[in-house]
Amino acid sequence: MTSPQRIWLSSPHTSGRELKYLQQALDSNLIAPLGPNVNEFEKEIAGYIGMKHASALSAGTAAIHLALILLGVESGDEVIASSFTFSATVNPIRYVNATPILVDSEPETWNMSPVELERAIKDRISKGKKPKAIIVVHLYGMPAMMDEIMSIASKYEIPLIEDAAEALGSQYKGKRLGSFGLMNILSFNGNKIITTSGGGALLSDDDELISRSRFLATQARDQAPHYQHSTIGYNYRMSNIVAGIGRGQMEVLDERVEKRRENFFYYKEQLSGVNGISFQEEPNDDYYSNHWLTTILIDPQQSKGKTREDLRLYLESKNIETRPLWKPMHLQPVFAACPAYTNGVSDRLFETGLCLPSSSNITNDERDSVVSSIKEILS
Ligand SMILES: *Cc1c(COP(=O)(O)O)cnc(C)c1O
Repeated sequence: MTSPQRIWLSSPHTSGRELKYLQQALDSNLIAPLGPNVNEFEKEIAGYIGMKHASALSAGTAAIHLALILLGVESGDEVIASSFTFSATVNPIRYVNATPILVDSEPETWNMSPVELERAIKDRISKGKKPKAIIVVHLYGMPAMMDEIMSIASKYEIPLIEDAAEALGSQYKGKRLGSFGLMNILSFNGNKIITTSGGGALLSDDDELISRSRFLATQARDQAPHYQHSTIGYNYRMSNIVAGIGRGQMEVLDERVEKRRENFFYYKEQLSGVNGISFQEEPNDDYYSNHWLTTILIDPQQSKGKTREDLRLYLESKNIETRPLWKPMHLQPVFAACPAYTNGVSDRLFETGLCLPSSSNITNDERDSVVSSIKEILS
């Protein structure tokens, strides 16, 4: 049976609590890029993650851009980033005219390989340039191997930035992602675990960095009665309206994480007997993923020759939205010339991987129809 309604990969999910904060903003005429919703949302985010400060911004991408500026990354510098990610992780490295150094994944969490990371650092140093920062991504909510990555970052004294855009609510060894780096970023885009319609945050324990980020994000105005500028500024602050939506979403964040995880366990149980399917799984109890998206790999040798693309097209014919895993940055035309430290892992993940419908407002019937469609084509 074809599903009459499209089943979405990851849809926004209102809580019903947003309106009171929007109403307060409207009633007080605070339709502005600053205001009480912004201040409160920042406190809530920082408190949740366990960092001293959060700066609410217009996007996660803007937060990465500011983090690089705050680290003094400039034209000609090199910045290491996970290659297996969304382009928004890497684009800001080009905004500051630096060179992305792309590092491949390990097969356990699918995130940055500590082995490739150290190989990249040593090689860049031997070529005369020490990377200015490392941006590590936690894809689909799965924590990267943080002990190993942090110890390499500190051994070579390179500041770490966590791109936790997909990992709000995930933990590593009981500590929330977004609290490990010197500066870390979150996204509240429409498809993420919670949404403000669009937005992001920069997190840090460092007072100086955060106050500088606020200065830069609001057009870099010097202290003066007139508009005086001694540095280039940006218009990156989150509006008081948008932050109101965020406050309404924060109230249900734990429920959203629980539901996304429940989607994962449901798919895993229902599809356990199907040959050729494997999942992105927590390697052990140190890892706690929000399972933002449930992601699977298809092994054609065990699925009677059926490929990821066969599955995707079949589901599409049933009006079910799925998506291949992120295409690694070292395979993207725009980053093809960047130095890359690869091991074949993310190439294979991209080739064989698929993201399943994982919305927190997906219905049981919708999930069942995803499961039965997968079984139809693979069993
Ligand atoms: C969504 C996302 C971003 C960018 O966040 P925006 O708020 O959309 O700018 C960055 N990195 C990753 C891994 C993402 O998934």
